[in-house]
Amino acid sequence: MKPILFASDLHLAAERPDALRAFEAFCKGPARDAAAVYLLGDLFDWWLGDDQLRQRFAKDIARQLRGISDAGVPLYLGQGNRDFLLGEGFARAIGASLLPERERIDLFGVPTLVSHGDELCTGDAEYQRYRAHIRSDESRARLLGLPLFVRRMIAWFLRRKSRHANAMKAEAIMDVEEAAVVDTLRRYEVDRLIHGHTHRPAHHALVVDGRPRERIVLADWHDHGHYLEATPAGLVDREIR
Ligand code: MN
Repeated sequence: MKPILFASDLHLAAERPDALRAFEAFCKGPARDAAAVYLLGDLFDWWLGDDQLRQRFAKDIARQLRGISDAGVPLYLGQGNRDFLLGEGFARAIGASLLPERERIDLFGVPTLVSHGDELCTGDAEYQRYRAHIRSDESRARLLGLPLFVRRMIAWFLRRKSRHANAMKAEAIMDVEEAAVVDTLRRYEVDRLIHGHTHRPAHHALVVDGRPRERIVLADWHDHGHYLEATPAGLVDREIR
């Protein structure tokens, strides 16, 4: 049986050749041979609106993703905190379905919730406030109404600000909150969470309401590629270069 693949936090950018090389290998290789591919956010280091598709870099990424869906593999695209402006236009261009913030799937019989994961970092109240504000329909519409060069300036400013803010925060604040994890597992009645965002790859085992459950954190593509391969036999972390 063909595997279902999950990846997140690729942070693709023109100035990150290692990630781009791994991405090309992923698109041409394992992704085309999968039963489905889930990209769970921060595919791009920054996405400022689907009109970015006019640029060569974005067009090239889209073409490679299109190769996956053209091969008949269902492709699912989630938004991350860096690329929450990815929209239906981009999804259409690559032949993908845009995922809601959280999606409950049946992963070979295991009820599983997939998301980017930043929504689980509830200990960072300031970030959650910003997140709720920037992702409202009004903010999105207002942002997308600005010329691309203005959005690029805002992104540059936010990136600088966020680096500054992160540098001053305790590590624990930027990881997920245990309470949010437990609450999510219960509310969605799932035995497994798969998410990225924290750049702290791990398979965490936990017991909630007497039931063994797990939380899988996907690795970011810092130096090379990473993806999770799910089959009826279980989950395996893979690397690609
Ligand atoms: Mn993220």
